[in-house]
Amino acid sequence: MIVVLTGAPGAGKGTQADLLVSKRMFKKISTGDALRNQVRAGSEIGKKANGYMSKGLLVPDDLLLGILKAEIAGAANDRILLDGYPRNIAQAETLKTLNSDFPVRVVVHLDVPEDELVRRLSGRRVCGECGTSYHVDTNPPKVANVCDRCTGKVTQRLDDEEEKVKVRLKVFNSETKPILDFYRNEKLLREINGAEATESVFKSLTGIIDNFI
Ligand code: AMP
Repeated sequence: MIVVLTGAPGAGKGTQADLLVSKRMFKKISTGDALRNQVRAGSEIGKKANGYMSKGLLVPDDLLLGILKAEIAGAANDRILLDGYPRNIAQAETLKTLNSDFPVRVVVHLDVPEDELVRRLSGRRVCGECGTSYHVDTNPPKVANVCDRCTGKVTQRLDDEEEKVKVRLKVFNSETKPILDFYRNEKLLREINGAEATESVFKSLTGIIDNFI
């Protein structure tokens, strides 16, 4: 089965997804992570995707479809958690056509006010090796710029720079938000307050998801 986590950039999807992986044995499929891997590997898809990602824009759907299908196919009968997909109505429709083996059971939206999103994104720093997230004020690494978990280099994602953040939030409001009505109509949507502390968001999230596993 598929659980979809939605929310604006900075809403905490990745953090909550990682918790569900470790505490509920989900397989996480993050299209953002998958695309960054392609960029790092210098693949054709990565080269094409990078032009959009570095501007904060959505990557065209056709570039993502192969990645998504491969990730889902590799999941066997797992509990699949989608982080960052779908991000527009066309992708939601695509997912509907793909989901005969893996139906979407529930879509959980992490709702966070825009000023809090900007605070989180502008202070976010990420390990380039293992992807662990930090925040310059609330959760810095113990040694400056060095990952606590793997000693990789901790830096700011290029798309977390202020101008890119503005674009990404605009793209979220215009392109991604309409999927909330799409899933509301499908009676799959649940919304939770994502502005609370990580543990309390996780409690709300598992309060919903545990009904489906
Ligand atoms: P994320 O790590 O989820 O914030 O994604 C980083 C960037 O990857 C986004 O700003 C987009 O450029 C691209 N991306 C990730 N997922 C998608 C998607 N489902 N559709 C289009 N672009 C995506």
